[in-house]
Amino acid sequence: MIGSLVADYLTDAIQDAASDTSGSLAEYIPELANARPQNLAAAFAMADGTVHGAGDVDVPFTIQSISKPFVYALALAERGFDEVLRKVGVEPSGEAFNQISLEVGTGRPFNPMINAGALATHALIGPSGGDAHERAQRVVDGLSAFAGRRLVVDESVCSSEMETAHRNLAIAHMLRSYGILEEDPRAVVDGYIRQCSVLVTTRDLAMMAATLANHGRHPLTSEQIVDESVVRQVLSVMATCGMYDAAGDWVTQVGIPAKSGVAGGLIGALPGQVGIATFSPRLDRHGNSVRGVNLFHRFSSDMGLHLMSVPPASRAVVRSHRIVGDGADVIRVLQLQGGIRFAGAERIVREVADASPGEHTVALDLTLVSSIDDVAQRMLVELARRLTIDGCRVILIDPESVVSETHLADAGSIDVVPRLLLASADEDRLTARM
Ligand code: GLN
Repeated sequence: MIGSLVADYLTDAIQDAASDTSGSLAEYIPELANARPQNLAAAFAMADGTVHGAGDVDVPFTIQSISKPFVYALALAERGFDEVLRKVGVEPSGEAFNQISLEVGTGRPFNPMINAGALATHALIGPSGGDAHERAQRVVDGLSAFAGRRLVVDESVCSSEMETAHRNLAIAHMLRSYGILEEDPRAVVDGYIRQCSVLVTTRDLAMMAATLANHGRHPLTSEQIVDESVVRQVLSVMATCGMYDAAGDWVTQVGIPAKSGVAGGLIGALPGQVGIATFSPRLDRHGNSVRGVNLFHRFSSDMGLHLMSVPPASRAVVRSHRIVGDGADVIRVLQLQGGIRFAGAERIVREVADASPGEHTVALDLTLVSSIDDVAQRMLVELARRLTIDGCRVILIDPESVVSETHLADAGSIDVVPRLLLASADEDRLTARM
């Protein structure tokens, strides 16, 4: 009962969303015109792999364009940023997903989320000049790693799309003529359509999105599928280009990096928090799921998921600031807490600077610090270094080693201890004993 709190919320949300029967199926792919339009599901996958779901979360459908950000991630991981950026840009096109257009001058597709960019990205998987079938299999393997289970291709959707793929073939030929594609255009379209025809469930998509939200590490298998730097690039492109010509509306109103697919899937990845997926096959004029878009609007506002709404980072980092002990043993103790990033570290530095400590010893207590990013570590270490130059003794209370050895090496002579030992039961008469 208590454990189903989030699932109950999702059940309510999809019940409300069900009344909207507007939009239409992606009829340009004959097999998708046979989809069951009333299908409806929503799932949240958390960083520890817990999935909360409601509706048809285990009904399979084809991934379609939701494959694009994941294959982009695989290409970046395999080929590196420079090579991928030479072939595919990162600018929102403001156009439909299947627009026949390339960047003037470079001939590059605008971004990897539109078909032109996705075709070029698909061709970057595996060794250049490699076998097209092996490439497609490698893509399916990569998507499976993101899902955490072996995924398969829906052969009937795949051949159905291939039969009517004139537009994608036109785009691929155009890419070939500009030298962006060096392979046989037909083989690339074939592989790309196989990629789009991979079967997933809403549960799978939530888990794949959670892998992006979880800095590239799969929440259940713990496999680091791609580097954090790759994930940052992918989420940025999703935020600006994932919803095609509706991208501006999306980022302002929903504010979650997202990607839609014409079979009705929609994913959102909120970094550090949650992977979200919805499924409902009727599409709006942009090719995005009508009910999926509505659900994401609701999730974002109900749960404060907009990327630009972040809690104040600095106010709460100094939990207490006290002078303890007496005589020669007097210590200034700053107890820090929570996650510390740039603004939090700046606050700590200023708090110490404003106090211009007259005491011989300053202790920074990191016991309650849950995370401290690279820049914040460097700032605290530099603070410690400057304090020691001023003749202060600096103690870092760091029981869980949140500050890395590498940074500590730059700190000069500071004492790192797991805790300050009490000389007596009196909390205010602390003495450092090391
Ligand atoms: N396979 C589809 C296509 O290339 C994918 C489009 C989409 O999902 N937006 O047209």
